[in-house]
Amino acid sequence: MQIQTEKRTELIDVTSCVRKYLADSRIENGICVISTKHTTTSIMINENESGLVSDIMQLLEKLVPAHAGYLHDRIDNNADAHLKATLLGSSETIPVVNGELLLGTWQSIFLAEFDGPRTREINVTVIGK
Ligand code: ZN
Repeated sequence: MQIQTEKRTELIDVTSCVRKYLADSRIENGICVISTKHTTTSIMINENESGLVSDIMQLLEKLVPAHAGYLHDRIDNNADAHLKATLLGSSETIPVVNGELLLGTWQSIFLAEFDGPRTREINVTVIGK
């Protein structure tokens, strides 16, 4: 599915999109893998609370400030985006039980954008029966 991001860095809650895809798959029990094909985005799970979302992005900025002498910046000037994506990873796997994602009450699935705005594609694969 395609997601249009709006900023250079942001977290976009894609939980409802994944739930819809899962419902359409009619799979009741198995696993759901959400992945990104891009090297400057990540898939992550955490709480969708606006303060926490800002805290997560600020933590990543502190850990990986932009233009801090990275070698990759000599090629396309977005090394920080790749490094942040490396820290969070490119996929999440969630159990599917009775047709529902086995997420905790406060867990949401996010696409993390680190080099937007762009049109991004996330892939949802459901295996089971
Ligand atoms: Zn690059």
